[in-house]
Amino acid sequence: MKLVDPFRGLESMVERDVMLSRHTWYRIGGPARYFVRPGGVEELREAVARCRAHEIPMYVLGRGANLLVADEGVDGAVFHLSDGAWEDVQIEGLRVRVGAGADFAKLIVQVVRVGLAGIEGLAGIPGSMGGIVRMNAGGKWGEVGAVVESVEVMDDAGEVQTIERHAMRFGYRSANLEQRFVLGATLELREDDAEEIAKRYREVWMYKRTTQPLNTKNAGCVFRNPGGGRSAGALIDAAGLKGMRIGAAEVSDRHANFFVAHPGCTAGDVMQLIKGVQQRVMDHAGVMLEPEVKMWPLRL
Ligand SMILES: Cc1cc2nc3c(=O)[nH]c(=O)nc-3n(C[C@H](O)[C@H](O)[C@H](O)COP(=O)(O)OP(=O)(O)OC[C@H]3O[C@@H](n4cnc5c(N)ncnc54)[C@H](O)[C@@H]3O)c2cc1C
Repeated sequence: MKLVDPFRGLESMVERDVMLSRHTWYRIGGPARYFVRPGGVEELREAVARCRAHEIPMYVLGRGANLLVADEGVDGAVFHLSDGAWEDVQIEGLRVRVGAGADFAKLIVQVVRVGLAGIEGLAGIPGSMGGIVRMNAGGKWGEVGAVVESVEVMDDAGEVQTIERHAMRFGYRSANLEQRFVLGATLELREDDAEEIAKRYREVWMYKRTTQPLNTKNAGCVFRNPGGGRSAGALIDAAGLKGMRIGAAEVSDRHANFFVAHPGCTAGDVMQLIKGVQQRVMDHAGVMLEPEVKMWPLRL
């Protein structure tokens, strides 16, 4: 029997068995059965329709800065909104329209240079605009949600909508977006003295450089802060777990909530370390830490 190819006619945007380790900050992750790079909204819509018709699970990949992907990979379609128009940045006065695939770190530098303030405090947070909005990325110096004016999204039926600020709720590392795809966002920034903005940007960046293991393979904070003003990193540190190692995965001795993937590290190593740290913090402080990092398709 000849199998039906679900992406027949869409070969130019669909690759098979693409190693996701090439696309994650951990440099971990097996193959995506289908790796889909649509050139625009129409192509995206068509590929999504094919996935629905063939019941293929869908995943959306940004820059992989918050992802742990299984060593076995993903038996589904991984969508990557990158290159071309997906990375467009248009600055009009205080408004900046940014495509989902744009590199957020570069965007910060670009707006700081033209004297626009509002995201310089997010220096050192890697990701795509889509992933940054979906996660409401941020920290001590604010969150992206504070400057989002609207978000363009597409749902699984292919319907595109612009969600305005008043309808959006941003929470701790979350946004109330029900639609699967973030296509882009419009930010509203403010004018300020370019020197002052650049100074703030440098200060935050220097702080990150000295407190995070930036030249390693990691995915930022592994666990969410548990609330009540407690920090997951401080709890892990207090349990004496800096330097704890399973296989080639290690709790960073610079920042206890960052796990470092050494050469040869597998998703299995990171998972075991997550479970081990969870258990030890539970024993030590009676707190069950919840992962912040997204896992495909792993389950704790
Ligand atoms: C060194 C380092 C430092 C970090 N510091 C911080 C920090 O200070 N604060 C912070 O909040 N985070 C931090 N992170 C985590 C990471 O930067 C953020 O979570 C970021 O938002 C991830 O964006 P991404 O594009 O890489 O998303 P990915 O990791 O690719 O995906 C993350 C989630 O977003 C979804 N997603 C991605 N793109 C889209 C899209 N277009 N449409 C819909 N959903 C999408 C994915 O499906 C997934 O659920 C850090 C990470 C690293 C490696």
